[in-house]
Amino acid sequence: MDPSIAKRIKLVRGDITRLRVDAIVNAANPELRGGGGVDGAIHRAAGPELLAKCATLGGCPTGSARITPGYNLPAGYVIHTVGPVYSGGDSNEADLLSSCYRESLGLVVEHGCKTVAFPAISCGVYGYPLEDAARVSLAAVAGFLTGSAVPEEVIWCLFDARAYDAFEGAL
Ligand code: ADP
Repeated sequence: MDPSIAKRIKLVRGDITRLRVDAIVNAANPELRGGGGVDGAIHRAAGPELLAKCATLGGCPTGSARITPGYNLPAGYVIHTVGPVYSGGDSNEADLLSSCYRESLGLVVEHGCKTVAFPAISCGVYGYPLEDAARVSLAAVAGFLTGSAVPEEVIWCLFDARAYDAFEGAL
C-alpha cells in the first residue's frame, strides 16, 4: 500500500460507540431495525431516536449505505451499511463487502466528514472469515482513498483481539 494512503488508516481496539469521530459506521441489517452485535450497541448508545429515524428510511439493500444523525453518540453521524452474509465466498460476497465501504465513504465525503470509524463489517453474525474480510475491506478503502483526499482519516475499531490481529496482518 502507498505510504501516503497507509498513513490515513488507523486500527484501534475497543467499542465504536465511544469514539468521538465525525461518523461511525454500523453493520446493519436490510430492514434497519436494530439487532445484536455492533448494531445493538450503537442503537443503545444513540437512544431511541435512532431507531425511529431508521424506520423512515425504507430499509437498505446489501452493499448499500444510509446516513442518520448520531443522536446521543459522541459521533455526529451514523452510516448504516448492510454487509453480505457469508455463504462460502462464491456469492459475490467480496464485491458486496467492498461496496459497503465505498458507499459509506461516499456518504462520508458528501456530508463533509473528516474522520470515520468502521467496525469489521460482516465479521460477526454474518460469518465472513476475518482474514479474507480484512484483506477485502482494506483494499476497498485504500482504493477509495487513492482517488480522494477526504476523509483525512479512516479508523477501524476492532472489538476483539482476533479481529484486530486480522486487520493488522492485512495492513
Ligand atoms: P455482522 O452482522 O455484519 O456480522 P456483527 O455486529 O455481528 O455484524 O459483527 C461485526 C463486528 O463488530 C464483529 O467483529 C464484532 O465483534 C464487532 N463488534 C461488536 N460490538 C462492537 C462494538 N461495540 N464496537 C465495535 N465492534 C463491535
